[in-house]
Amino acid sequence: MTHDPQNPLNGKALIGSLATFLRNAAKISAANPDSHTPCGSCDTCCHSVFTRISLTPEEQARFGVAFFDMTEKGRCPYMGDKGCEIYAQRPQTCRMFDCRQLTACEVVREEIGGIPPLPNPQLYALAQKWAFKPLTAEDRLAAKAWVEAINWAAASLQKDGVTVEVMAVIGRALKRHPDLVKTGKR
Ligand code: SF4
Ligand code: SF4
Repeated sequence: MTHDPQNPLNGKALIGSLATFLRNAAKISAANPDSHTPCGSCDTCCHSVFTRISLTPEEQARFGVAFFDMTEKGRCPYMGDKGCEIYAQRPQTCRMFDCRQLTACEVVREEIGGIPPLPNPQLYALAQKWAFKPLTAEDRLAAKAWVEAINWAAASLQKDGVTVEVMAVIGRALKRHPDLVKTGKR
């Protein structure tokens, strides 16, 4: 298929509305550790996007390591030729990762401002895989609430002495997010 180079959504996968996405992501984050990202054949995040996969205390005990460090070839040690070798038992970090959340951050930063750019080119490239519909008034309300939630999450992680890492910030922001999306204020 030939893509229209003028089309801003050229070559990107459509997500839908920002407000709906954030609302669903918050619900999933509260109730269920699986993100349900429509990954298709993509396995980028099992390669070199992250240098290590963090594990819960229970997973550390189960796997006998504190992290999954990427191999020198930039692959998760459990990434086999046919995909994840421990898929049914994969860590919570893998279950919850949803690169569309990075797109939400990037779109909100571009449209509303108030949150920093993604910290590295690999994360930025993941964010660029997807596109939201043009923002409506409801989306803009959700976007403003998302800025508040992200900034609150970054500050609260810092206060707790936890490493302020982008997915940790998003994870904490989502836990406070449902009411913000509904009302636009705390
Ligand atoms: S979460 Fe994103 S980067 Fe990871 S496998 Fe799915 S689509 Fe690819
Ligand atoms: S454990 Fe499986 S899903 Fe998680 S990074 Fe490794 S190969 Fe990917």
